[in-house]
Amino acid sequence: MRLRGTVMNDFECAIGLEVHVELNTATKAFCSCSTRFGDGPNTHVCPVCLGHPGALPSLNAKVTEKAVAAGLALNCRISEISRFDRKNYFYPDLPKSYQITQFFHPICRDGFLAIETDGGEKKIEIERIHIEEDAGKLSHREDRTEIDYNRCGVPLLEIVTRPQISSSDELKQFLKKLRSVMLFTKVSDCKMNEGSIRCDVNVSVRKKGDGTSGTPTEIKNLNSFKFAARAAEYEISRQIAVISGGGTVEKQTMRYNTEKGITEPMRSKENAEDYRYFPEPDLPPLHITEECIEEIRKTLPILPDVRIRRYERDFGIPAADGETLTRTPELSAYFESVAEICKYPNIAANFLLSEVPSAGDENSYMKIPPKNLAALSELFGNEEISSATAKKLLRRMIFDGIDPRKTVAEESLRQINDREAVRKYAEAAIEQSPKALADYKKGKLTAAAAVVGRAMANSGGKLNPVVLSEICAALLKEVCGNDVP
Ligand code: ZN
Ligand code: MN
Repeated sequence: MRLRGTVMNDFECAIGLEVHVELNTATKAFCSCSTRFGDGPNTHVCPVCLGHPGALPSLNAKVTEKAVAAGLALNCRISEISRFDRKNYFYPDLPKSYQITQFFHPICRDGFLAIETDGGEKKIEIERIHIEEDAGKLSHREDRTEIDYNRCGVPLLEIVTRPQISSSDELKQFLKKLRSVMLFTKVSDCKMNEGSIRCDVNVSVRKKGDGTSGTPTEIKNLNSFKFAARAAEYEISRQIAVISGGGTVEKQTMRYNTEKGITEPMRSKENAEDYRYFPEPDLPPLHITEECIEEIRKTLPILPDVRIRRYERDFGIPAADGETLTRTPELSAYFESVAEICKYPNIAANFLLSEVPSAGDENSYMKIPPKNLAALSELFGNEEISSATAKKLLRRMIFDGIDPRKTVAEESLRQINDREAVRKYAEAAIEQSPKALADYKKGKLTAAAAVVGRAMANSGGKLNPVVLSEICAALLKEVCGNDVP
């Protein structure tokens, strides 16, 4: 369901996110059970995470450290005192019948994360970040439901934004950027397939200039960026259709049906009161000193935003490309080691962002030693090889591990820049293309492309394309005389 631009243009939408990021601590938040993923069901459980009577939680210090690191990286204020609360509800994946979370006094507040949009940098404000525990996992079989409590008590950060995201594209940008910051700060592995980053998306729509704010609906538990963006897009269209038809949007909780590509109501939206939040009596307030915060600040790496600005300033790489180059710490470290030894970092960046993924996949760069990508960028930048040759070499660098300089020498792949040599190829191509020539004479100027293509193919892709086009155009004019338009 896509609405026409004109209808869409009468409305604006506000999207807010609650992102759950699983922390990569070795043990759970309030007990010493392992957090390892993929082991047999119910092998990492104890009286604390199973909620046996009399078992008492105690906070894992690593959880605090990682929460503070994430908060600093997201430009938040760290609370000197934060507290834990109980969120009460029954569900079979929650053996205690309450989740330990931080409702009244979260550990971090008032941060932001900047994303690159078409209109330049945009800061999305982060209202709060709190620590909470994950629930277990239910698997619905044909005749029964199985339950695994291994995930019960695994520490999570819940990152809550203000509703300042205005499109599904911005939503995707935000999630990618957040993932990259979490990876750089080493607080989470952000493995989507293991569910270590999931989000709830709040969407509201209103008529432009209306002044009131729209009624938000919440789409629960989206575990891929793609689905989050699609769900938001669908929900925006749905709400516009409801309002345009004279109806009102109901405040409700939705799920995204990935098969049908639609949002479906789950239940009318519950309010905070329904959870009977109250302070967790078994955990003391969490006190974080200024010294402790400074210690953690010192351990923070250079974050993506700083790197993006550097790439822009030092290499002329647009910020949007910089954002992709800092997608993971591994990719940015790789790019920086190439840039260090390469005369043309911007060319290397282009290869990394477009040619490498299209030849293999987005991780194929790992198969190329940095010095080889640097060499390829210089061969191309110095006009020693054509772009067609560069692409072919790149493919072989990924799949056969060749050294581009050696291969260019051994197989004499150097670009032909010499005008006389190029002219010979062009003349031969014109002779071999009587049909194109006839077309050209009839005024079909695009027929020149056929001649260029043939010359290029005859040379094995080695001709300098700029020189070749120039010479072909001149020769065709000559051959046909001046009676061609
Ligand atoms: Zn446990
Ligand atoms: Mn939560």
